[in-house]
Amino acid sequence: MTDALREAVRQVLPGVRADLEALIRVRSVSADPGAAAEVRRSAAMTADLFRGVGTPAVEILDDVDGGQPAVLARYPAPPGAPTVLLYAHHDVQPAGDPAGWLSPPFEPAERDGRLYGRGSSDDKAGIAAHLAALRAYGGRPPVGVTVFVEGEEEIGSPTLGAFLERHRERLAADVIVLADSGNFELGRPTLTTSLRGLVDCVVELRTLRHAVHSGGYGGAAPDALTALCRLLATLHDEQGNVAIDGLASAEPPQVDYPEEQFRAEASVLDGVQLLGHGAVAQRVWARPAATVLAIDATRVADASNTLAPVARAKISVRLAPGDDPVRARAALARHLRDHAPWGARVEIVEGEAGPPYAIQARGAAFEAAHTAFRQAFGSDLIEAGNGGSIPFVAAFAEAYPAAAILVTSAGADPDSRAHGADESLHLGDFERACLAETLLLTELAP
Ligand SMILES: [Zn+2]
Repeated sequence: MTDALREAVRQVLPGVRADLEALIRVRSVSADPGAAAEVRRSAAMTADLFRGVGTPAVEILDDVDGGQPAVLARYPAPPGAPTVLLYAHHDVQPAGDPAGWLSPPFEPAERDGRLYGRGSSDDKAGIAAHLAALRAYGGRPPVGVTVFVEGEEEIGSPTLGAFLERHRERLAADVIVLADSGNFELGRPTLTTSLRGLVDCVVELRTLRHAVHSGGYGGAAPDALTALCRLLATLHDEQGNVAIDGLASAEPPQVDYPEEQFRAEASVLDGVQLLGHGAVAQRVWARPAATVLAIDATRVADASNTLAPVARAKISVRLAPGDDPVRARAALARHLRDHAPWGARVEIVEGEAGPPYAIQARGAAFEAAHTAFRQAFGSDLIEAGNGGSIPFVAAFAEAYPAAAILVTSAGADPDSRAHGADESLHLGDFERACLAETLLLTELAP
């Protein structure tokens, strides 16, 4: 059976690759209102691809206010078989400065075994992997399959909760495969079992009614930018551990994330120290992180000898699994008010509050995944955390509390540079991911 499926995947792969390239050519940037027609076009193209694999039950759903078009393709379950939901998203990040790319972002190009282009790994590869699995079964998978391809993941899935509420019955599944994460390293299949949450805010400090001469008043009157720098410096202790009271930490992960590997992937310069203490995996997956994202202050080119009356910064805090975003956001605001120096006036505008997530990866569906991925990759499936936040995972978990949720990768690895310039997909790992998903459907069948 495994050999037959292996051969079937090999047969369908060239066609799937061509379809993936066609999808990459569509600039489906959900963050750009000017690209709305392209987002609709990528939804239509995705719908056509699944319509071509044995099911007439394909719909484009665009009925939630402010939402982007999503594609739903349903393959009814054979009697007694479970239903598996296969998720991906068809929207992509903006390309950024095209000068940063070696080849044009929306022109797929192969170099050294990798396919380059925006969306090649995040997450048009997910669509292609689902397509490969369904084609390998000739459109008749051994379990019920609902393919759900979202169109607004890259803007934080703002209407997904409302969408799942409205279409709860139609998307109901026993197992949910979210093929939008990354493998821990090339050739090592990975289940993402924990994600950090996220809160952010903008803090503004005021020390003067207006700018004044730094010669006449400096030395006694405080400038707001120095006050802000001192405040931002209190976010960490001397070692670089987050020093905001009231944030949670989680259990240390089992995976060893070698420091050298981390330094290389994070592009840390030689001689620059890492922040915090403890194992790297613990620091990036199981502890909070505080980052100053931006500062509004006078540009160096516009500098004059004055004391700045006001300065502003945007601060983002990643939350460990188990933390509560609303409480954490309040803790951040409290920290900023309590630590503002010199009696500076503090104004805080609270921003996002996304929950962290930890998956209990036990049970039959997870065993099936271990078997399928081991057969496809010749390497054990590892369970790793992800320091990022994927809002849709929590949305699915809330809508379907009884379902097993598998957060997988369609072949993305640390070199894929999702969201960055020169995004790419390793074609070997993509093929193995397609095979793993195909085998998984058989493993999940009764
Ligand atoms: Zn994605």
